[in-house]
Amino acid sequence: MSTERLYYHDSFLYDFDARVVESLPREGRHAIVLDRTAFYPTSGGQVHDLGMLMADGKQIAITEVADEEDGRVLHFASAPLFAGTQVHGTVDAARRRDHVQQHSGQHVLSAAFIRLFNMPTVSFHMGEESCTIDLETAGLSAAQAQKAELLANEVIAEDRPVSIRFVPLEEARQLGLRKLPPKQTGDLRLIDISEFDLTACGGTHVRATGQIGSILLRKIEKVKQGVRVEFVCGLRAVNTARRDYTTLTEAAALYSSHIYDVPQQVRKSLEETKAAGKARHKLLEELAELYAERLLAQAAGSPQVIAQSFPDRDATFIKLLAQKLTAAQSAVIALLASGAGQPTLVFAQTPGQKSNMGQLMKDAMAQLGGRGGGSADMAQGGLPAGGADSAQIETLLQQIAAKLGGQTP
Ligand SMILES: [Zn+2]
Repeated sequence: MSTERLYYHDSFLYDFDARVVESLPREGRHAIVLDRTAFYPTSGGQVHDLGMLMADGKQIAITEVADEEDGRVLHFASAPLFAGTQVHGTVDAARRRDHVQQHSGQHVLSAAFIRLFNMPTVSFHMGEESCTIDLETAGLSAAQAQKAELLANEVIAEDRPVSIRFVPLEEARQLGLRKLPPKQTGDLRLIDISEFDLTACGGTHVRATGQIGSILLRKIEKVKQGVRVEFVCGLRAVNTARRDYTTLTEAAALYSSHIYDVPQQVRKSLEETKAAGKARHKLLEELAELYAERLLAQAAGSPQVIAQSFPDRDATFIKLLAQKLTAAQSAVIALLASGAGQPTLVFAQTPGQKSNMGQLMKDAMAQLGGRGGGSADMAQGGLPAGGADSAQIETLLQQIAAKLGGQTP
């Protein structure tokens, strides 16, 4: 026997009396079936209600409400109720009002997209924080989104009556509904937003569009089936706008600017960061150049073998230094290590010599417990933070240098 749905006729009914038909065990919970209910089960994109059932002086929390295919509504609870028990149901009114605002707002917004741009809504999702509709369209510009948002809010401000009526399917076909349900038996439940939208729907709706309060469009993104539009209605729109404003105010305070100047300030700040990065790189190059000159002046032999570790410098610096050292006219082998950031080793030689840097690096990494490799002339290896200490690295560099230094006259 299907449950009589009281919310079909009154979306603002939060208290009702009913009789328990049965309690079914379901995955560790109890699904209570009543003869009638004001609880809305999850369907059509709208999320279920929460609330309480009172029976024999006991309060039972309803944690989920679901639709059965045979028309029964299941009220999930942690305890069963005996068939025949009289209960008093209370629906969480704040949650329901929020759902009514989001869901009714969706009707208005979907109709606005149809009226303005002939973009049909193919799906609706109600989330904890925001809702989305998917529009069947190749694209949606920011200007179009704003236009739809404005029309939807005008319809809200006009406070148009929203009426519900039941009509046979054949009659409904003649009415030019925005959306017909795929399979339907019996009468269709039509939601009529006066002279704006007519559609078939089983959800809970406002009495007049003014109750939606407002619609605020958020993110617009391309998805497989078209364009996804995120939006919030009513109190959610107010809360979202409040949070946006708080965030912007915080950002503006950091820049000591007006909130509307934040994008300009961020742009300026990014440009400054980029310029500073460039200047830093230029200085590093100059420093590497100076180091290279000094190290080459100190190293004797051919090739000149230079082994040096830099605990306070990073990988970028020793790579630059390796380039400078091996770009010199004479034959040079550079064995360098850096300690800032991830400890890194760079081995490089002036092209055309017989040593193999890639192989040397592999051997070094095997000893130090890192990973790395490269070509005969240039190789790099990284060590895990907290792995080999700087003394170990220094010792290894000197050992390799001593081996290669056999060529020193
Ligand atoms: Zn609806």
